[in-house]
Amino acid sequence: MSEESPAFPRRVALLGSTGSVGRQVLDVARAFPRHFTIVALAARNNVALLAEQAHEFGPDLVACDADAPEALARLGALLPGAARGREGLTAVATHPQADIVVVATSGLAALDPTLAAIAAGKPVATANKETLVIAGELVMRAARERGTAVLPIDSEHSAIWQCLRGEDHASIARLVLTASGGPFRRMSPGEMAAVTVEQALAHPTWHMGPKITIDSATLMNKGLEAIEARWLFDVPYDRIDVVVHPQSIVHSLVEFIDGSVKMQASLPSMHLPIREAMSYPHRLDRAGTGLLPDLDLARIGHLDFEPLDRERFPCYDLALAAARRGGTFPAALVGADETAVDLFLRGAIGLLEIPARIERVLAEHEAEATASPDLDALLAAYEWARARCREAAARAV
Ligand code: MG
Repeated sequence: MSEESPAFPRRVALLGSTGSVGRQVLDVARAFPRHFTIVALAARNNVALLAEQAHEFGPDLVACDADAPEALARLGALLPGAARGREGLTAVATHPQADIVVVATSGLAALDPTLAAIAAGKPVATANKETLVIAGELVMRAARERGTAVLPIDSEHSAIWQCLRGEDHASIARLVLTASGGPFRRMSPGEMAAVTVEQALAHPTWHMGPKITIDSATLMNKGLEAIEARWLFDVPYDRIDVVVHPQSIVHSLVEFIDGSVKMQASLPSMHLPIREAMSYPHRLDRAGTGLLPDLDLARIGHLDFEPLDRERFPCYDLALAAARRGGTFPAALVGADETAVDLFLRGAIGLLEIPARIERVLAEHEAEATASPDLDALLAAYEWARARCREAAARAV
């Protein structure tokens, strides 16, 4: 998208409208009614909220991929005209009127709609990690071949993207992702072993869904983000770094070959990166929207940076090791992590068991790995890792 990108209002198709990011996408649409029109909405099991959103925004198409029995029961009464199942998601992702498709769902269910949107030539603004971690190479290649863009919504990647505007790719020396360090930055390993689900869910600076909050507490999230950055910006892993920055004001940095470093800063709010992806290449005036308070650096006083403690947070290195192995390893990483986090959230294992289980599954994956996997092989590796992680848990219990 450049000068010729469609004039506002931009018509938006949104997948995952009832989740944490999806609701904030609609906050942005609500705050800028002259800039964004919602033409299609899709969600999973929160039928009541989806119906409310459909009533408020009046999209052409509503799709619901519910699988919970109560949700299915309500669907007929609340949204009788909704498209159903996977086909419904694809219909939203390829809606003929959509100028941009926003993927706000978590999990692998976003992969098919993302590829469908790209095949339809739509720019995709994505907050979905799994798609880029597991299939980043395939997704970015498809976008390149179709001549469309994949735009980041994650705050770190949005920061890097903003720092790279107007810069040559050859001038990039290093990408540095900032990490808040999560709620356990100062804890000893003994204290971390005894952490409860409630403590792990209380993130100091960001309010997000449970899976990503736990991934932030173990720093797995930063490893997944390094993999996303590798594909989004085409920078090799030895030039991607992490620095811990507890205030979450600087959202990431780019170091250039001449030694200059650009950083992007704002108060922690997903509204900014969401709006940035939705309105690119235009910045919109937030005055009167209430979306993002001013960044008052004099009041904040100081910004802290410290190295990542890789011994206490082994998930980052586990993710990078899987990333460097490539092939099906990142898919196995995502599958093992999802299952381990789920076991932790259900109280079946402790926090420190998450990296231990992932490490074991990845070691077992040596015998299974494929070097140049297609989509089916990636999905198979992901399912294999989920099963291995669950079985390991069952044996241990
Ligand atoms: Mg992030």
